Amino acid sequence: MNRKLLNKLCCPFDKSDLNVEIIQETEDQQIIEGILTCPNCQRYFPIIYGIPIMTPDEYREKALELPKLQKWGLEMAPNQESFQLQEPSGHDKLDI
Ligand SMILES: [Zn+2]
Repeated sequence: MNRKLLNKLCCPFDKSDLNVEIIQETEDQQIIEGILTCPNCQRYFPIIYGIPIMTPDEYREKALELPKLQKWGLEMAPNQESFQLQEPSGHDKLDI
């Protein structure tokens, strides 16, 4: 996805502006892999193969997302009904 599209994205649950951590990006600012986080509800939304995964919780599969999170050095928070991360990672965050 193009980095410019990030400005148009907001949390599907509460419409908050999202933060993004870019993990892999091409030279022309196409984001291949990254993670969007909502500062309000703390949900995360992965960007995988250039596609932001922003479907409702009930249509997401934690088992499918876990390997990606682990590869990125992130962990899902324990005892969570919703999709939240364990703790902020050390990556720089960009406000979008
Ligand atoms: Zn939210």
